Amino acid sequence: MTSVRVRFAPSPTGYLHVGGARTALFNWLYAKRTGGTFVLRIEDTDKERSTEAHTQVILDGLAWLGVTHDEGPYFQGQFYGRHRADAEGLLRADRAYRCFCTREELDQARTHAEKGNSSFRYDGRCGRLSRADVDARLAAGTPFSIRVRMPDEEIAWEDAVHDRISFQGRDLDDFIILRSDGTPIYNLAVVSDDIEMRITHVIRGDDHISNTPKQIALYRALGRTPPVFAHVPMILGSDGKKLSKRHGATAVGDYQDQGILPLAMRNFLALLGWSPGGDREILPEEEMIALFSLEGIQKKAAVFDLAKLEWMNGQYLSARPAAELEPAVRRHLGALGVDPGSRDLRPLIDAVKTRSRTLLDIANQVAVRLDRTRITRDPKGDQLVTKLGAAFTANLALVSAALTALPEAQWTPAALEAALKELAEREGKKLGDVMQPVRVALTGGTVSEPVNELLAVVGREDSLARIAAARS
Ligand code: GLU
Repeated sequence: MTSVRVRFAPSPTGYLHVGGARTALFNWLYAKRTGGTFVLRIEDTDKERSTEAHTQVILDGLAWLGVTHDEGPYFQGQFYGRHRADAEGLLRADRAYRCFCTREELDQARTHAEKGNSSFRYDGRCGRLSRADVDARLAAGTPFSIRVRMPDEEIAWEDAVHDRISFQGRDLDDFIILRSDGTPIYNLAVVSDDIEMRITHVIRGDDHISNTPKQIALYRALGRTPPVFAHVPMILGSDGKKLSKRHGATAVGDYQDQGILPLAMRNFLALLGWSPGGDREILPEEEMIALFSLEGIQKKAAVFDLAKLEWMNGQYLSARPAAELEPAVRRHLGALGVDPGSRDLRPLIDAVKTRSRTLLDIANQVAVRLDRTRITRDPKGDQLVTKLGAAFTANLALVSAALTALPEAQWTPAALEAALKELAEREGKKLGDVMQPVRVALTGGTVSEPVNELLAVVGREDSLARIAAARS
């Protein structure tokens, strides 16, 4: 049995889109699952739109996700010689022909077709030129492109996702494979490279389905067996329309910037259109690989659910030790303009991570705990102040007195809890009415880690100062 070889073939004409990352991930998973090889090929043939910066962003995004290639990256632009040789081979075998039509002639034919409300198909006229005619044009130095002869036959394949898909050759025109400047057209370059790289499975987006019959025609013309095709469904936004910037961030790098963990992103992307069966959501790498199959890829489009990504990220954040998150939290704090100096952030991270959805969330909460000028009263905090009325400051005064009596050495979660409980009992107050004003005083909001832990991470002096400020 030949071993599996798959590839991810991005065009470096933009950032790494979540759809592209998902395609890369499915290829990677399939290679891992089958013990195959994952090839990375940068399709940089669109010279105007391809840039090195985009290539770098794609490489960085894949590395961040841990979607590592086994071979490459190859750059398609280096293989023009082979692409041209393949086109010339087809020409010699009369599976392709020279087309001398000028751009103006083709534009005219296109306009004509559109006026008649039909889509333009090249009528194959140059494919019927006599040998002498062709020779005369060549002798005159007339520029030409090369077109493949599309056979009048059925072109069908058993798609690993969609089952059988079929086209009729007569519905497709003799498309150009080599431009008059000798550069290849996408479909030729892809087929030529996939053959050369011995690709066994082409796993790519649904948007390529219309290219596949053209590519199969080229495999046939070149006398090669096509690979298995698996067309992965589109990703839609929550409104059912194709995912785009209107829905929010679509670049993998944006999620990295927002503090999504790479493993959470990868887990989320894996479940975008693939199901391991059952209702498993959090999948460690080994399980993801063990369970992955092309049959498990769904036919219908997947919906990008940001709330689910954030929930999943929260799960991953909770499971990571604070020490592991600290460097990233420091970077986010830097971006927020907070300098924690040499302070050990681990207790702060531990205090807030279970209530956080992103690293940025953690950083924001840590920032408030480090620097009281960052407290902003949120609507829930305001509501509590209104609801308690005079009791808000009165209760804070009681807390302040009780906690001032606790010396620095006893400023521990256990001692703080005992002190607050004792205070509530002594004063005949509900524990919540004692705790909630402290939360609002220390953070501006009503949701946080347990109040004794909050007081402990903020520290004695700063906590008392925050309580005093909230009372005034
Ligand atoms: N370069 C193509 C793209 O970025 C992908 C080609 C393929 O996967 O066959 O859409």
